[in-house]
Formats: sequence, C-alpha cells, structure tokens
Amino acid sequence: MSSQMDTQDSNKSPDFSEARKNLAYLRTHVLNGQHENQVCEGEEADLHKHMLDCKKNPGHSSFIPYKKFEINDLSEEYRDVDLFEFVKVVADLTVRIKVKKVSKERQEFWPDTNMPYPFYDKKGTEFLRTGSGQVNEVIQFTDGVGRDRHGKDIIREYKKCMCRPCRNSDSPKNVWWEVVVRTATHVVYDDIECADTSCRLFYDEEKSELFTLEDLILLEVNIEQDWCLISYMSCGSMAYRERLLSLVVQRVDLWKKVCNKFQNSKNYFTFIVSHPHGYAKQVSFGVYLDNYKVGKFDDKLDLMMLTYNTPTCPGSSGAPVRCVGLGVGHVHNGSLPSNGLNYSGVSLVFPDGSPYVKF
Ligand SMILES: [Zn+2]
Ligand SMILES: [Zn+2]
Repeated sequence: MSSQMDTQDSNKSPDFSEARKNLAYLRTHVLNGQHENQVCEGEEADLHKHMLDCKKNPGHSSFIPYKKFEINDLSEEYRDVDLFEFVKVVADLTVRIKVKKVSKERQEFWPDTNMPYPFYDKKGTEFLRTGSGQVNEVIQFTDGVGRDRHGKDIIREYKKCMCRPCRNSDSPKNVWWEVVVRTATHVVYDDIECADTSCRLFYDEEKSELFTLEDLILLEVNIEQDWCLISYMSCGSMAYRERLLSLVVQRVDLWKKVCNKFQNSKNYFTFIVSHPHGYAKQVSFGVYLDNYKVGKFDDKLDLMMLTYNTPTCPGSSGAPVRCVGLGVGHVHNGSLPSNGLNYSGVSLVFPDGSPYVKF
C-alpha cells in the first residue's frame, strides 16, 4: 500500500479497458482544454518575453517566486511548519524541463478520441519548448536491483549502467545511480524526444547556478493517463546526489505528517510548484474543486483526474500537483479556457468518500 502513497509509479489497472472509455469521454467532453507547454519561438533568452507578455496571468501576482516563499504566505488554517517544509521539499525536487524536438511518432489524437494531441501538427520539427517535472526517486542499482523511497525492491531489465561513457564502453559498470523524474507524456512523448530533453534542477531564481541533467532515458510512459518517467544514470560522482536522496526521503515523511494533521480540513488546499514560461521556480496555491473517476486501480484506490483553481501558466505542464485533502500526487495536465480551471492527468485517490491517506 505504502508504495502507492507518494506518487504512483505504474497504474496498470486490471479493468483499464473500461477506464480507457471513461478517460476518452472525459477528454472529449469535460477536461478538453489546452496543454501548458511553453513554446519558445527563439532562443532560451526569449522566454523572458513570454513571461512579460503572459495573457493567462498577467503580472503573475498569484504566483510566489520560490526564493521569496515564507510560512506567512500560507493561509492561517494551513500555516504549519510541517506543511511549510513539505512545500519546500516538493519545490526543491521540482525541475524545469526543456525539449528541443517533436517526435515524428506523435499521435494525432488523445487515445480513443478525436481530440487533437499536443504538437501533432508540429511532429518531426525542432523548436524549444519547456514544461515542469519532479524528481520522483533517487536509487542506487547493483546488477539491475535497487530499492525505492518506500523500501520496495525495484528491478531493471538492464543490468549494467547506461550512462554515456558506459554506453560507449566494452565494460559498462554494474553499480550506478538513477535520478528518476516524473513529468507529463505530452511534454516528453517518447525516446526520440527524451534523447533531446534536459532537466534543470534547483532553478530557484534567475541567478541560480546552472545544474542540468542530460542524456536521459525513457523508463515508462502512459499516454492515456499523461505521465512518464525519465531517468538520468550515473556511475561516477554526481553533484547534489545525497541532497536529492535526502529530499526524496523527507518528502515521504512530511507528507504522512501533513496528511494526518489536516485530515479534518475540508478546504482541500492544493499547491503546485512549476516553471511558468520556462522561468525560475514559482509556487501557487488554490483548492481542488472536483474529481473525475476514470476507473479502479485496486480495491482501495481509484484512478482520478482533478480540477483545481491553483494558478498555472504555459510551462507548468508536467508539474507536481499536491492536494492536501487527497493524499496523493498528480501531474499538471492542462487548462480549460471555458472557465479558467486547471486539471491534472490521472492519479490515485481513495474511492470510499474518505479522501485521506490511511497509513
Ligand atoms: Zn504567465
Ligand atoms: Zn556508467
């Protein structure tokens, strides 16, 4: 159970054919909005222009630059040191994703619908676009066996390191580390796009030190639910590895504390950390408004999409969405032009009317 608490790694539901049908209905009739990649018409330096020209949230006064975030920014009900620390840990693990290529394999429609899939009309071309994502795991592997943040064994099909030096070596290492990042599939669609993807970590303000992961491999992709896992592999020394590992562990512990503390709250505080317009990290607050059941994951968990009024902008696609009422983590998916609400991809929620994590 606990392995599903923090964020799902794999939603392989037994009755997913029914779920696919429900999801197709939702994507066609209910949650049929705009994706939130930021497309950059020029170089990265031009992202600043998109920030200034923003039509969705002009001035961005509803976002808090992460560097300026303090506990008093939380409303009185949620002004709590553990929640404050939790938001900071989620923020520290949030990454800016930059992709330079659109795969020629992009599909024309969302699965089982006639709703256009993002960037199909640009497939096979190259231009800069940005999204957001989050470090999900930091795991050490020996001969393809490692242990995740919940202490669960993780087995890789590959048994040797696949970092660039090892890929070009006759004797690849058998011990390596992976930093696994979760984002939306409509941000990184397949291994062609993944090969041209970079993740900037700790991009907290404009002058933050440049720390970027490149040469990522695509681990897992779920187009229907709109999430994917991409992995950076390293068998040598890696800056910030211990810090990232510690943050991933803290996130699990703090989330338990926060969910237990706020289990009687009915306001469903929902926060997002993202990189609007590909710019430095921003925190935004709001509430979750509705959930849409897609199907069952197992006896205890349903697959759901959420709507929320937490502000997002182009560049927020793939960002972590945390609803303190629901005890799980979603990935930001898009925005509805009709009513200005934002919505997530599919993740796990308790079905029994009790929205809180049971530990
Ligand atoms: Zn904006
Ligand atoms: Zn290696």
